Amino acid sequence: MSFSATAKDELARKATEKDCCALAELAAFAHVTGHIELKGQGNFEFYMNTEHAPTARCMLSLIKTRTETGARLITKENRLKKKHIYTIMVEGYDDAKKLLTELKIFGRDGAMHFGIAPEIVKRDCCRTSFLRGAFLGSGSISDPEKGYHLEFVASTQEFADGLLNILSSYEIRAKSIARKDAVVVYVKESDSIIKLLTLIGAHSTILALENIRISKDIMNNINRAANCEAANYSKTVDASIKQVQAIMRLKEAGEMERLSPTLFAVAEARLNNHQATLNELAALLDGKVGKSGINHRLRKICELAEKLDE
Ligand SMILES: [Zn+2]
Repeated sequence: MSFSATAKDELARKATEKDCCALAELAAFAHVTGHIELKGQGNFEFYMNTEHAPTARCMLSLIKTRTETGARLITKENRLKKKHIYTIMVEGYDDAKKLLTELKIFGRDGAMHFGIAPEIVKRDCCRTSFLRGAFLGSGSISDPEKGYHLEFVASTQEFADGLLNILSSYEIRAKSIARKDAVVVYVKESDSIIKLLTLIGAHSTILALENIRISKDIMNNINRAANCEAANYSKTVDASIKQVQAIMRLKEAGEMERLSPTLFAVAEARLNNHQATLNELAALLDGKVGKSGINHRLRKICELAEKLDE
C-alpha cells in the first residue's frame, strides 16, 4: 500500500467530535472533490469523487449524521486504470443547495465561493479539521524513502491561497504551483510535514515517517564515517535505532511527560542526536553523569517502551 493510502486509512477512521469541525472537514472535502452537475432549468446536483473507500464512507457518514442533507454512495470500476471511483451523490436541487449553503460554499447571496469562507475556519479546532478534509480529498504524501513531499491539489488559486494561509498560521512552510488545470500546494521540509501530520492526527504515519528518517539519518552518518571502526560504529548505530524507536513509542503513547526528569533529559538528548556515542550524550548533559549512567538510563527507557507493548 502507498504511504498516502496508509495515512488516509488512519485519518478516515478518526472520529470527528464536534459538529463545527465536522462541517469544516466536509467543506474542505467538498471544495477539493466536488462538482456541480447541471440538470437543466436551473436545477443541479452535487457529487464528490474519491478513490479511497474509507474516506468515502467517512464523508458519507459525516453528511448523514452532521447535516440535514441526504446522500448516497455509488461505486464505479475503472477497468482501464484498475481502480474504483466512489461517488457521494447529493441528489435533488434542494438537498444540494442546502448542503452547499451549510458548508459555506454558497454564500448568503446564493453565489458560489471558490475560496475558503472565513467563518468555516474561524476556530482552531475547525482549521485542523479543514486540513484533514482537504488531505483526505486531494492530499498525497510521497514514500519518504524517495524524498519528502506532501501536497494538496486545489482547483482554484483562491482555494490554494486560503490553504497556504491556514498552513502558514501553523508555521508550516508551503508553496503553490500551477499544474495542468489545477493549483498544487506542497510542503517539502520533513519538519513541516511532521507538523502538519501531527495537527491532522496522523500519528501512526508520523511514526512510520520518523523511523524512515532515522534510518536515513543513520545511513548517511555511516557513509560519512566510512573510515571509522566499522564494527564499533554499527553497534552504536544498532543501539541508537533501538533507543530512538523506544523513545518514539513512549512519545506516541503520551508517556514522555511521565518520565522522571533524569530519564526525560536523556531521552530528549538521544532523540536529537541519533548518532551520538554514550560519551557524547554524557557531555551534552553537563557531563554530570558518566557513560555507564547514560547507558543505564537508556536501557531503562527501552524497558519502559517494551512494557508498553505487552
Ligand atoms: Zn471545530
